[in-house]
Amino acid sequence: MKKFYIETFGCQMNVHDSEKVVGTLLSLGYSPVATPEEADLVLYNTCSVRDKAEQKVYSRLRQFKRAGNGKIVGVLGCVAQQEGTRIFEKAPHVGLVCGSASYRMLPELVAALEGGGRRVTGLDLAAGETFETPYTKRDNPHRAYITISEGCDNSCAYCVVPFTRGPERSRTSRGILEEARELAGSGATEIQLLGQNVTSYRDPASDGLDFAALLARVAEVPGLRRVRFATSHPRDFAKAIVDAIDANPVLCDHVHLPVQSGSTKVLERMRRLYTRDEYLRRIEWLKGARRKIAITTDIIVGFPGEDDAGFEATLSLLDEVQYDSMFSFKYSPRPNTAALALEGQVPEEEAGRRLTLLQEKQRAIQIRRNSQLVGTVQEVMVERYNQATGQWIGRTSQNRVLNFVCPPGRVVREGGYLPVHVTRAGPNSLAGEAVDLL
Ligand code: SAM
Ligand code: SF4
Repeated sequence: MKKFYIETFGCQMNVHDSEKVVGTLLSLGYSPVATPEEADLVLYNTCSVRDKAEQKVYSRLRQFKRAGNGKIVGVLGCVAQQEGTRIFEKAPHVGLVCGSASYRMLPELVAALEGGGRRVTGLDLAAGETFETPYTKRDNPHRAYITISEGCDNSCAYCVVPFTRGPERSRTSRGILEEARELAGSGATEIQLLGQNVTSYRDPASDGLDFAALLARVAEVPGLRRVRFATSHPRDFAKAIVDAIDANPVLCDHVHLPVQSGSTKVLERMRRLYTRDEYLRRIEWLKGARRKIAITTDIIVGFPGEDDAGFEATLSLLDEVQYDSMFSFKYSPRPNTAALALEGQVPEEEAGRRLTLLQEKQRAIQIRRNSQLVGTVQEVMVERYNQATGQWIGRTSQNRVLNFVCPPGRVVREGGYLPVHVTRAGPNSLAGEAVDLL
């Protein structure tokens, strides 16, 4: 029996791509193992969105060089697409380099390596299709990812994604809905729709469904209790999306709307295609909804040209929006991107100082927002039991983690839903007790 090991870095798209790669390998007669040492084929599905993520991959390849000889080592994903055959020079023990737009070629590429080929590549970005495979191997039977689009047509000045994942390709709504029905039929109750920019989704079929209409249709699939989506781009974020969320509680009350900066001047340099005011209009729609929609974001500090006033504008945006959660990063220069040519680089130390200030402010906001939920009852989907704390981990529709204990004798199962009384709040999670139904 041929054995494979795969490690995945980066975003949900990569996690889901790996599920498809695993499914494809299983169909080729491979079986999974838990360590690279046991495997004949070792794959790293990589991320290059920031330099740190990219360096992690090279460090893995170096470690592995000592550990494994005679194996096939493959680099998949964004670093593969970005670096191409240069990877063979940096890491000569690598035999396979394949970007996400070429995964449908994996069976041929693996066969070529098994047949004695030493170096094979799949680096064509112009494949023009999405990676549909009947073989996706999902690890979680309750919650499943569905790709609705791949690639990105924007050109944010800092971002490597358009170079590593190619132009945007939307899947047909028919394919998406079929997959959602199949998943619901096999017991999944939560679906997460994925794309680099889901909000610019447009059904390539003749009726040309937009994203809000697609959301409404997916939410009607019988058996589904929760539908999430990521990532939204503020420019394409339509009021109809908020209306769809209001109309159907299956659509979770959470929107991730990355802003990147609170300064219109910086946003312009980033080529984000919206101003602070336009962004805030979207926030108003979300806050004006009948349901309480949690809002989360991504922020980059230290982008070239971000002066003190630019950074202050981001701090004041946090005060104004009151995000429920935030991912924040120091700007990391990336190959091929337009920002490399910009003047006004911010020293590393200053970017670090800004990141700390930003995170401190957001932490205080989260403590305040989470504590407003103490005393309420929230429905959670049960994720798992945490042996270390003796608590169950659940997630609310607003995407908050809610750790809880149960009355003795109460049966709780992973993937189940139950009401939990919130008793405590921290910056990153809530704690509570399952409501006694008797
Ligand atoms: N498509 C999504 C979007 O438009 O927001 C996500 C793209 S990226 C994988 C996720 C986040 O990484 C971005 O929202 C941005 O905050 C951050 N990011 C991307 N490029 C970066 C860079 N060069 N340096 C620092 N952070 C970066
Ligand atoms: Fe990158 Fe911008 Fe596309 Fe998001 S929208 S993937 S940040 S280019």
